[in-house]
Amino acid sequence: MPINHGAAPVDINSRKIINGGDADVMQLYPMKHHFAWEAYMAGNSNHWLPTEISMQRDIEQWKSMDALTADERKAFETVLGFFTTADSIAANNVVLAVYKHVTSPECRMYLLRQGYEEAIHTHAYQYIVESLGMDESRIFNMYREVESIYNKDNLVLNLNEGIFDPHFKTGTFENDQKFLENIIVFSLIMEGIFFYSSFAVMFGFQRQNKLTGSAEQIQYIMRDESQHLNFGVNMVNTIKEEQPELWTPEFQQRMVDLVKRAVVLEYTFATEVFPKGIFGMNADGFKQYIEHIADRRLATVGLPAQYNVPNPFPWMSEAVDLNKEKNFFETRVTEYKTGGQLNW
Ligand code: FE
Repeated sequence: MPINHGAAPVDINSRKIINGGDADVMQLYPMKHHFAWEAYMAGNSNHWLPTEISMQRDIEQWKSMDALTADERKAFETVLGFFTTADSIAANNVVLAVYKHVTSPECRMYLLRQGYEEAIHTHAYQYIVESLGMDESRIFNMYREVESIYNKDNLVLNLNEGIFDPHFKTGTFENDQKFLENIIVFSLIMEGIFFYSSFAVMFGFQRQNKLTGSAEQIQYIMRDESQHLNFGVNMVNTIKEEQPELWTPEFQQRMVDLVKRAVVLEYTFATEVFPKGIFGMNADGFKQYIEHIADRRLATVGLPAQYNVPNPFPWMSEAVDLNKEKNFFETRVTEYKTGGQLNW
Protein backbone atom coordinates (compact mmCIF):
# COMPACT_ATOMS: atom_id res chain seq x y z
CA MET A 1 0.00 0.00 0.00
CA PRO A 2 1.31 3.52 -0.75
CA ILE A 3 2.53 5.76 2.06
CA ASN A 4 0.69 9.02 2.30
CA HIS A 5 3.72 11.34 2.22
CA GLY A 6 3.51 14.30 4.59
CA ALA A 7 0.26 13.18 6.20
CA ALA A 8 -0.53 14.34 9.74
CA PRO A 9 -0.16 11.90 12.68
CA VAL A 10 -2.78 9.20 12.94
CA ASP A 11 -5.91 10.06 14.87
CA ILE A 12 -6.23 7.46 17.63
CA ASN A 13 -10.01 7.72 17.45
CA SER A 14 -10.01 6.29 13.96
CA ARG A 15 -8.19 3.14 15.10
CA LYS A 16 -10.51 0.16 15.12
CA ILE A 17 -10.13 -3.62 15.30
CA ILE A 18 -11.61 -3.89 11.80
CA ASN A 19 -12.53 -1.19 9.29
CA GLY A 20 -9.99 1.26 10.71
CA GLY A 21 -8.55 1.88 7.24
CA ASP A 22 -5.11 0.95 5.92
CA ALA A 23 -3.49 4.18 6.97
CA ASP A 24 -2.04 3.13 10.28
CA VAL A 25 -1.54 -0.65 10.15
CA MET A 26 2.23 -0.04 10.14
CA GLN A 27 2.20 2.45 12.97
CA LEU A 28 2.03 0.96 16.47
CA TYR A 29 1.53 4.33 18.16
CA PRO A 30 -0.72 5.96 19.20
CA MET A 31 -1.82 2.67 20.72
CA LYS A 32 -5.48 2.13 21.45
CA HIS A 33 -6.09 -1.58 22.08
CA HIS A 34 -3.86 -2.00 25.12
CA PHE A 35 -5.23 -5.47 25.88
CA ALA A 36 -3.42 -6.69 22.75
CA TRP A 37 -0.06 -5.32 23.86
CA GLU A 38 -0.51 -6.83 27.32
CA ALA A 39 -1.33 -10.21 25.76
CA TYR A 40 1.74 -9.94 23.54
CA MET A 41 3.99 -9.20 26.53
CA ALA A 42 2.43 -12.03 28.58
CA GLY A 43 3.03 -14.42 25.68
CA ASN A 44 6.69 -13.44 25.57
CA SER A 45 7.09 -13.94 29.33
CA ASN A 46 5.54 -17.38 29.06
CA HIS A 47 7.70 -18.60 26.21
CA TRP A 48 8.52 -22.33 26.25
CA LEU A 49 9.59 -25.11 23.90
CA PRO A 50 8.46 -28.75 23.92
CA THR A 51 11.99 -30.16 23.85
CA GLU A 52 12.74 -28.65 27.31
CA ILE A 53 10.45 -31.21 28.92
CA SER A 54 11.78 -34.68 29.62
CA MET A 55 9.74 -37.51 28.12
CA GLN A 56 11.83 -40.29 29.66
CA ARG A 57 9.24 -41.53 32.16
CA ASP A 58 6.47 -41.35 29.55
CA ILE A 59 8.55 -43.47 27.19
CA GLU A 60 9.10 -46.10 29.89
CA GLN A 61 5.41 -46.16 30.81
CA TRP A 62 4.25 -46.29 27.21
CA LYS A 63 6.58 -49.21 26.40
CA SER A 64 5.79 -51.13 29.58
CA MET A 65 3.01 -53.68 29.31
CA ASP A 66 1.33 -52.98 32.63
CA ALA A 67 1.75 -49.23 33.32
CA LEU A 68 -1.35 -48.28 31.29
CA THR A 69 -4.63 -50.04 30.55
CA ALA A 70 -5.95 -50.53 27.02
CA ASP A 71 -8.65 -47.92 27.70
CA GLU A 72 -6.08 -45.42 28.87
CA ARG A 73 -3.98 -45.96 25.75
CA LYS A 74 -6.98 -45.49 23.52
CA ALA A 75 -8.04 -42.32 25.37
CA PHE A 76 -4.54 -40.88 25.14
CA GLU A 77 -4.27 -41.62 21.41
CA THR A 78 -7.69 -40.22 20.57
CA VAL A 79 -6.99 -37.03 22.48
CA LEU A 80 -3.71 -36.66 20.58
CA GLY A 81 -5.63 -37.37 17.38
CA PHE A 82 -7.71 -34.28 18.07
CA PHE A 83 -4.81 -32.12 19.24
CA THR A 84 -2.45 -32.86 16.35
CA THR A 85 -4.57 -31.06 13.77
CA ALA A 86 -6.49 -28.59 15.96
CA ASP A 87 -3.62 -26.13 16.36
CA SER A 88 -2.86 -26.23 12.64
CA ILE A 89 -6.46 -25.25 11.99
CA ALA A 90 -6.11 -22.44 14.52
CA ALA A 91 -2.82 -21.25 12.99
CA ASN A 92 -4.33 -21.14 9.51
CA ASN A 93 -7.24 -19.14 10.80
CA VAL A 94 -4.99 -16.57 12.48
CA VAL A 95 -2.56 -16.17 9.60
CA LEU A 96 -4.68 -16.67 6.49
CA ALA A 97 -8.07 -15.38 7.56
CA VAL A 98 -8.04 -13.04 10.56
CA TYR A 99 -4.76 -11.13 10.28
CA LYS A 100 -5.30 -9.31 7.01
CA HIS A 101 -8.70 -7.96 8.06
CA VAL A 102 -7.47 -6.59 11.40
CA THR A 103 -6.58 -2.89 11.17
CA SER A 104 -5.17 -2.47 14.69
CA PRO A 105 -1.36 -2.85 14.61
CA GLU A 106 -1.23 -3.83 18.28
CA CYS A 107 -3.77 -6.61 17.62
CA ARG A 108 -1.66 -7.70 14.65
CA MET A 109 1.39 -7.90 16.96
CA TYR A 110 -0.43 -10.33 19.20
CA LEU A 111 -1.75 -12.37 16.27
CA LEU A 112 1.85 -12.90 15.13
CA ARG A 113 2.75 -14.17 18.60
CA GLN A 114 -0.37 -16.35 18.67
CA GLY A 115 0.44 -17.86 15.27
CA TYR A 116 3.88 -18.85 16.54
CA GLU A 117 2.39 -20.37 19.68
CA GLU A 118 0.05 -22.51 17.56
CA ALA A 119 3.16 -23.82 15.75
CA ILE A 120 4.82 -24.62 19.09
CA HIS A 121 1.72 -26.57 20.09
CA THR A 122 1.78 -28.64 16.93
CA HIS A 123 5.48 -29.19 17.63
CA ALA A 124 4.61 -30.46 21.13
CA TYR A 125 2.21 -33.08 19.75
CA GLN A 126 4.76 -34.13 17.17
CA TYR A 127 7.34 -34.45 19.96
CA ILE A 128 5.02 -36.60 22.09
CA VAL A 129 4.06 -38.87 19.17
CA GLU A 130 7.68 -39.26 18.11
CA SER A 131 9.05 -39.79 21.64
CA LEU A 132 6.56 -42.56 22.35
CA GLY A 133 7.17 -44.20 19.00
CA MET A 134 3.53 -43.94 17.94
CA ASP A 135 2.38 -44.40 14.36
CA GLU A 136 2.59 -40.77 13.20
CA SER A 137 0.44 -41.05 10.12
CA ARG A 138 -2.33 -42.80 12.03
CA ILE A 139 -2.44 -40.19 14.81
CA PHE A 140 -2.16 -37.20 12.48
CA ASN A 141 -4.88 -38.60 10.21
CA MET A 142 -7.41 -39.25 12.97
CA TYR A 143 -9.31 -36.06 12.16
CA ARG A 144 -10.41 -37.73 8.95
CA GLU A 145 -11.06 -41.16 10.41
CA VAL A 146 -12.54 -40.60 13.85
CA GLU A 147 -16.00 -39.23 13.32
CA SER A 148 -16.27 -37.23 16.53
CA ILE A 149 -13.01 -35.38 15.74
CA TYR A 150 -14.07 -34.84 12.15
CA ASN A 151 -17.40 -33.37 13.30
CA LYS A 152 -15.73 -30.81 15.56
CA ASP A 153 -13.19 -29.70 12.96
CA ASN A 154 -15.85 -29.65 10.28
CA LEU A 155 -18.13 -27.35 12.26
CA VAL A 156 -15.34 -24.81 12.68
CA LEU A 157 -14.05 -25.05 9.10
CA ASN A 158 -17.51 -24.81 7.52
CA LEU A 159 -18.47 -21.76 9.54
CA ASN A 160 -15.27 -19.99 8.63
CA GLU A 161 -15.09 -20.80 4.96
CA GLY A 162 -16.48 -17.36 4.11
CA ILE A 163 -13.64 -15.33 5.54
CA PHE A 164 -11.00 -17.52 3.87
CA ASP A 165 -12.41 -16.43 0.50
CA PRO A 166 -9.75 -14.20 -1.14
CA HIS A 167 -12.53 -11.78 -2.15
CA PHE A 168 -13.90 -11.47 1.39
CA LYS A 169 -13.73 -7.89 2.68
CA THR A 170 -14.99 -6.31 5.87
CA GLY A 171 -17.01 -3.12 5.63
CA THR A 172 -20.53 -4.39 5.06
CA PHE A 173 -22.96 -5.27 7.83
CA GLU A 174 -23.15 -8.89 6.70
CA ASN A 175 -19.38 -9.39 6.35
CA ASP A 176 -18.59 -7.64 9.62
CA GLN A 177 -21.00 -9.99 11.38
CA LYS A 178 -19.30 -12.88 9.58
CA PHE A 179 -15.92 -11.71 10.87
CA LEU A 180 -17.26 -11.37 14.41
CA GLU A 181 -18.73 -14.85 14.13
CA ASN A 182 -15.30 -16.17 13.11
CA ILE A 183 -13.68 -14.78 16.25
CA ILE A 184 -16.45 -16.21 18.43
CA VAL A 185 -16.25 -19.62 16.76
CA PHE A 186 -12.48 -19.75 17.04
CA SER A 187 -11.99 -18.32 20.49
CA LEU A 188 -15.05 -19.42 22.39
CA ILE A 189 -15.76 -22.71 20.63
CA MET A 190 -12.49 -24.02 19.21
CA GLU A 191 -10.06 -22.73 21.83
CA GLY A 192 -12.58 -22.35 24.68
CA ILE A 193 -14.67 -25.55 24.43
CA PHE A 194 -13.23 -28.05 21.94
CA PHE A 195 -9.89 -28.32 23.75
CA TYR A 196 -11.31 -28.80 27.19
CA SER A 197 -12.34 -32.43 27.50
CA SER A 198 -8.94 -33.31 26.06
CA PHE A 199 -7.28 -31.06 28.62
CA ALA A 200 -9.28 -32.80 31.35
CA VAL A 201 -8.10 -36.22 30.14
CA MET A 202 -4.47 -35.13 30.23
CA PHE A 203 -4.90 -33.80 33.76
CA GLY A 204 -6.53 -37.09 34.65
CA PHE A 205 -3.35 -38.88 33.61
CA GLN A 206 -1.24 -36.41 35.52
CA ARG A 207 -3.27 -36.88 38.70
CA GLN A 208 -2.57 -40.63 38.43
CA ASN A 209 1.13 -39.89 37.96
CA LYS A 210 0.97 -41.28 34.42
CA LEU A 211 2.46 -39.77 31.26
CA THR A 212 3.44 -36.71 33.24
CA GLY A 213 5.85 -35.33 30.61
CA SER A 214 3.04 -35.24 28.06
CA ALA A 215 0.70 -33.72 30.62
CA GLU A 216 3.24 -31.02 31.39
CA GLN A 217 3.41 -30.13 27.70
CA ILE A 218 -0.36 -29.85 27.70
CA GLN A 219 -0.30 -27.58 30.75
CA TYR A 220 1.88 -25.12 28.88
CA ILE A 221 -0.42 -25.35 25.89
CA MET A 222 -3.44 -24.76 28.10
CA ARG A 223 -1.90 -21.65 29.55
CA ASP A 224 -1.24 -20.30 26.03
CA GLU A 225 -4.74 -21.24 24.93
CA SER A 226 -6.37 -19.44 27.81
CA GLN A 227 -4.48 -16.33 26.68
CA HIS A 228 -5.71 -16.86 23.10
CA LEU A 229 -9.23 -17.15 24.46
CA ASN A 230 -8.86 -13.95 26.53
CA PHE A 231 -7.55 -12.09 23.53
CA GLY A 232 -10.43 -13.33 21.34
CA VAL A 233 -12.94 -12.27 23.99
CA ASN A 234 -11.33 -8.80 24.14
CA MET A 235 -11.52 -8.56 20.34
CA VAL A 236 -15.21 -9.46 20.38
CA ASN A 237 -16.05 -7.05 23.17
CA THR A 238 -14.10 -4.22 21.53
CA ILE A 239 -15.76 -4.79 18.15
CA LYS A 240 -19.10 -4.69 20.00
CA GLU A 241 -18.16 -1.23 21.32
CA GLU A 242 -16.80 0.01 18.02
CA GLN A 243 -19.66 -1.32 15.90
CA PRO A 244 -22.61 -1.86 18.24
CA GLU A 245 -25.01 -2.25 15.32
CA LEU A 246 -23.54 -5.72 14.63
CA TRP A 247 -24.68 -7.17 17.96
CA THR A 248 -28.33 -7.73 17.04
CA PRO A 249 -30.67 -10.02 19.01
CA GLU A 250 -30.71 -12.40 16.00
CA PHE A 251 -26.91 -12.51 15.92
CA GLN A 252 -26.73 -13.15 19.66
CA GLN A 253 -29.22 -16.00 19.36
CA ARG A 254 -27.22 -17.49 16.48
CA MET A 255 -24.05 -17.45 18.60
CA VAL A 256 -25.85 -19.09 21.53
CA ASP A 257 -27.17 -21.79 19.17
CA LEU A 258 -23.67 -22.40 17.81
CA VAL A 259 -22.27 -22.81 21.31
CA LYS A 260 -25.05 -25.29 22.10
CA ARG A 261 -24.24 -27.31 18.98
CA ALA A 262 -20.57 -27.29 19.98
CA VAL A 263 -21.41 -28.57 23.48
CA VAL A 264 -23.16 -31.61 21.96
CA LEU A 265 -20.21 -32.30 19.65
CA GLU A 266 -17.71 -31.99 22.49
CA TYR A 267 -19.75 -34.24 24.74
CA THR A 268 -20.05 -36.81 21.94
CA PHE A 269 -16.28 -36.68 21.47
CA ALA A 270 -15.68 -37.21 25.20
CA THR A 271 -17.89 -40.32 25.27
CA GLU A 272 -16.00 -41.72 22.31
CA VAL A 273 -12.68 -41.14 24.05
CA PHE A 274 -13.82 -42.98 27.20
CA PRO A 275 -16.78 -45.17 26.50
CA LYS A 276 -16.43 -46.61 30.02
CA GLY A 277 -15.21 -43.48 31.78
CA ILE A 278 -11.69 -42.96 33.07
CA PHE A 279 -9.99 -41.81 36.29
CA GLY A 280 -13.35 -41.26 37.94
CA MET A 281 -14.60 -39.11 35.06
CA ASN A 282 -17.66 -40.60 33.36
CA ALA A 283 -19.91 -39.48 30.52
CA ASP A 284 -22.30 -37.54 32.78
CA GLY A 285 -19.41 -35.75 34.45
CA PHE A 286 -18.00 -34.73 31.11
CA LYS A 287 -21.34 -33.50 29.82
CA GLN A 288 -21.79 -31.34 32.88
CA TYR A 289 -18.22 -30.08 32.77
CA ILE A 290 -18.57 -28.99 29.14
CA GLU A 291 -21.91 -27.31 29.86
CA HIS A 292 -20.34 -25.48 32.78
CA ILE A 293 -17.45 -24.29 30.60
CA ALA A 294 -19.84 -23.22 27.83
CA ASP A 295 -21.82 -21.00 30.22
CA ARG A 296 -18.60 -19.34 31.29
CA ARG A 297 -17.60 -18.69 27.68
CA LEU A 298 -21.00 -17.19 26.88
CA ALA A 299 -20.76 -14.90 29.91
CA THR A 300 -17.42 -13.45 28.76
CA VAL A 301 -19.13 -11.80 25.78
CA GLY A 302 -22.35 -10.93 27.60
CA LEU A 303 -24.50 -13.83 26.39
CA PRO A 304 -26.88 -15.63 28.77
CA ALA A 305 -26.04 -18.91 30.54
CA GLN A 306 -27.84 -21.93 29.06
CA TYR A 307 -27.16 -24.72 31.53
CA ASN A 308 -26.54 -23.33 35.04
CA VAL A 309 -24.74 -26.39 36.35
CA PRO A 310 -21.90 -26.49 38.88
CA ASN A 311 -18.39 -27.60 37.91
CA PRO A 312 -18.17 -31.36 38.48
CA PHE A 313 -14.36 -31.31 38.14
CA PRO A 314 -13.32 -28.55 40.56
CA TRP A 315 -9.68 -29.63 40.27
CA MET A 316 -9.85 -28.50 36.63
CA SER A 317 -10.80 -24.96 37.54
CA GLU A 318 -7.77 -24.73 39.78
CA ALA A 319 -5.54 -25.95 37.01
CA VAL A 320 -7.09 -24.25 34.02
CA ASP A 321 -9.43 -21.41 34.56
CA LEU A 322 -7.66 -19.32 37.12
CA ASN A 323 -4.92 -18.54 34.66
CA LYS A 324 -2.24 -18.51 37.33
CA GLU A 325 0.46 -17.18 35.13
CA LYS A 326 2.95 -16.49 37.85
CA ASN A 327 3.04 -19.59 40.00
CA PHE A 328 1.57 -22.29 37.78
CA PHE A 329 4.67 -23.18 35.82
CA GLU A 330 7.24 -21.53 37.97
CA THR A 331 10.43 -23.15 36.77
CA ARG A 332 10.68 -22.48 33.06
CA VAL A 333 8.67 -19.31 32.90
CA THR A 334 11.07 -17.41 35.09
CA GLU A 335 14.04 -18.75 33.16
CA TYR A 336 12.72 -17.12 30.03
CA LYS A 337 11.96 -13.92 31.86
CA THR A 338 15.60 -13.52 32.79
CA GLY A 339 17.29 -15.59 30.13
CA GLY A 340 16.50 -13.54 27.07
CA GLN A 341 19.76 -11.63 26.80
CA LEU A 342 22.32 -12.12 24.09
CA ASN A 343 26.05 -11.72 24.45
CA TRP A 344 27.12 -9.78 21.44
FE1 FE B 1 -4.80 -21.12 20.15
